[in-house]
Amino acid sequence: MQETFFIKTYGCQMNNYDSEKVNDLLLFNGFSKAEDIEKTDIAILNTCHIRERASEKLYSDLGRLSVFKKNKKKIGKNFSIVVMGCVAQAEGDEILKRNKSVDYVVGPQNIQIIPKLLKKKNFKKTHIDFLSEEKFQSLTSSNENKVSRLITIQEGCDKFCSFCVVPYTRGAEFSRPVEDIFAEVNNAEKNGCLEVTLLGQNVSSYQSSAFGEKKIRLGKLCSIISRIRNLKRIRYVTSHPNDIDDELINEHKFNEKMMPFLHLPIQSGSDKILQRMNRKHTRKEYIQLIKRIKNNVPDMAFSSDFIVGYPGESDYDFQETLELIKEVKFASSYSFCYSARPGTPAATQDEIIPDEIKKNRLKHLQKILLKQQDEFNKSFLDKKVEILVTAKGKIENQYVGRTPHLQPVHIMSSSDLVGKILNIKIERLTSFSFHGKIL
Ligand code: SF4
Repeated sequence: MQETFFIKTYGCQMNNYDSEKVNDLLLFNGFSKAEDIEKTDIAILNTCHIRERASEKLYSDLGRLSVFKKNKKKIGKNFSIVVMGCVAQAEGDEILKRNKSVDYVVGPQNIQIIPKLLKKKNFKKTHIDFLSEEKFQSLTSSNENKVSRLITIQEGCDKFCSFCVVPYTRGAEFSRPVEDIFAEVNNAEKNGCLEVTLLGQNVSSYQSSAFGEKKIRLGKLCSIISRIRNLKRIRYVTSHPNDIDDELINEHKFNEKMMPFLHLPIQSGSDKILQRMNRKHTRKEYIQLIKRIKNNVPDMAFSSDFIVGYPGESDYDFQETLELIKEVKFASSYSFCYSARPGTPAATQDEIIPDEIKKNRLKHLQKILLKQQDEFNKSFLDKKVEILVTAKGKIENQYVGRTPHLQPVHIMSSSDLVGKILNIKIERLTSFSFHGKIL
């Protein structure tokens, strides 16, 4: 009988992509998918190290799974546990020491070996080498019929922002060859995909070569894949401001397949804090970049990430962040209180900001960001918007689509709309999702 697997994914889109790939590899290798973790032979936890207490969450899940494993053993059944993702990379053998029921620990660049590990069951238990090239060469192209797909084009980061674990958990920057990305997008389009989101921890640093050109950066790559006829929308995430070049801005300006929405983290509006964070750009440079993009692409909307209460952040520094937010005006954003990630340079910094102050600052900042998001969304009321319908909704005859600016839209229809691009009129706005009528 086929062994079944269940993948639980924590965290970011890169992890979703890796989980999709492990899913495809396991199906290709004769395993089958279980509907939930309690009904499976193999539990795979794809972990994330970005959020606070990621490893605590993992160990509490492992505690539950090890009881489950013991009970299965009593009735003569096998149950394998694989920990993959960034916590696996960061903690390595420590996971095996703390929880003996774990069978394998597999870093993000070793996921291609999971089927082999599960079939032979006699390999070493920890696999955390940095093998980006080998990983991408071994991944299969999915034939799953999906309207919108995530495609990893780049992995790792050389920026070393002082608070971030990515350079340590995902390693040095690696860009996939253009031909491989083109083939994956082309295959996705053949299977009904109309939208791709190109992924990378530092996606705008993408650099490869192909077709006799030595240096192909993100703008050119978008131009190349946009030649795939039925592909209608191109997005990418996450970018560093220093890597946004004129070629990419021009691609947005002249290529209608480029969606007018850019996630461009700044983290803080204070030069002092940006320098402490090792972000390698100033507040002024960020604002100038936003203006340059806006001048060329007037309908571009921006989202960002903010860290509040970084060590040494004074009231004045925080005010500078608020001023920057008011000046730029973001369509949406992610914001968090700073918390130290073990092993990062920021974790050793002093001038720690008390939790109470961090929480108050975050509340204040989120109030402004939410107001901006609300104002941005309200500006679409009663307007005509083009949406791509990506999925069925939670209630009967409901469908969910996305606008070019990534806002979710609910529409009702008795016929199947998934995969359709429609013009709709925005009629209502509830908790940041739109409700619309087909025109
Ligand atoms: S650019 Fe992004 S991924 Fe790279 S170190 Fe900075 S925060 Fe982390």
